[in-house]
Amino acid sequence: MPTYRELLQQVKSEIDEVDAAAARELVTSEDPPLLVDVRERDEWAEGHVPGAVHVPRGHLESRIEQVAPDRSRPLVLYCAGGSRSAFAAKTLAELGYEHVSSLAGGFTDWKRNGGDVEYPQSLDAAKRQRYSRHLLIPEVGEEGQLKLLDSRVLLIGAGGLGSPAALYLAAAGVGRIGIVDDDRVDESNLQRQIAHSTQTLGDWKAESAKRTIEALNPDVEVIPYLERLSSENVDRILGDGWDVIVDGADNFPTRYLVNDAAVWHDIPLVHGSIYRFEGQVTVFKPHQGPCYRCLFPTPPPPELAPSCAEGGVLGVLPGIVGSLQASEALKLCLGIGESLSGRLLLFDALATEFHEVSLRRDPSCPVCGDNPTITDYIDYVEFCQGPSSTGRPAHA
Ligand SMILES: [Zn+2]
Repeated sequence: MPTYRELLQQVKSEIDEVDAAAARELVTSEDPPLLVDVRERDEWAEGHVPGAVHVPRGHLESRIEQVAPDRSRPLVLYCAGGSRSAFAAKTLAELGYEHVSSLAGGFTDWKRNGGDVEYPQSLDAAKRQRYSRHLLIPEVGEEGQLKLLDSRVLLIGAGGLGSPAALYLAAAGVGRIGIVDDDRVDESNLQRQIAHSTQTLGDWKAESAKRTIEALNPDVEVIPYLERLSSENVDRILGDGWDVIVDGADNFPTRYLVNDAAVWHDIPLVHGSIYRFEGQVTVFKPHQGPCYRCLFPTPPPPELAPSCAEGGVLGVLPGIVGSLQASEALKLCLGIGESLSGRLLLFDALATEFHEVSLRRDPSCPVCGDNPTITDYIDYVEFCQGPSSTGRPAHA
């Protein structure tokens, strides 16, 4: 029986080898060969020859026909040092490939000779494990997970809606989550605002949510904005670059401000609101579907607006609506499915019923219409000014 060394020498005597310098010339020639990287996934992920295709040695026989159906096309195989690719070259010759060679010295020599290296994005082992249930869905997969890790979602409010939305977006691996909230955690919040806890009573909600998210998923970068969204700061905050905004603010001034800003910054807005046992969700896609002002051009007069502090809500309701918002946000980040743009989804927890209402873009909308009449931010007056209220609108 030959030793490994003897077998390798035997195989190398039967195949063609090219050295790194010759391979570089071939690659830049007019009729370059197909480079096939036969290393393992983690080796490929740490860098490979630009333009190479990845077919791990263990899958060579079963996959090579997909990447190289033409057996007359010249192939150059490489591994780390030139041994695995030598065996692979012999196998491909046996499979009928006519011009196969192995890169002597492998990727190591390629780099040593100044060959170009491409560093692909891919999930490391820990991320493959963490997001394995996403990787199993064809519509998400590794590419989608990389998209999510690269996505940036801005949450307006870390209250009833913002809490579940933040937790599910973080768990799903949305790479950057901004949280705008100038409120502190109060005991009456804990009945539904699940990003906070008895331990964080009195803390800034944005900081409290940040700690919860970081404990859940260290892949997520949380950017807290301990400020109330206003005409003064909205351009700065939205200018930090967001793919999707999730509106969890349950007050008119913020709702209109976020809507107008989302239209002008051209960022899709996932809207949600809740009251007692009823909730609603929709998506406002600037210029593709309606915006909030297409439905309600201006806020109601303060005396007709519901008082904020008195608006009771079933504790689980924001969990349902906020989770729907997170679902819409994830779809928008991934670019999959049908969003709720142009559709208002209504949920009644007492009857356990969903209804859907079609929404249309209004060409005469004061903000997103053909001839907009509102072109600057408006800070609407506070609505919660009743004697029994706290004097400020709370986040859902
Ligand atoms: Zn509009």
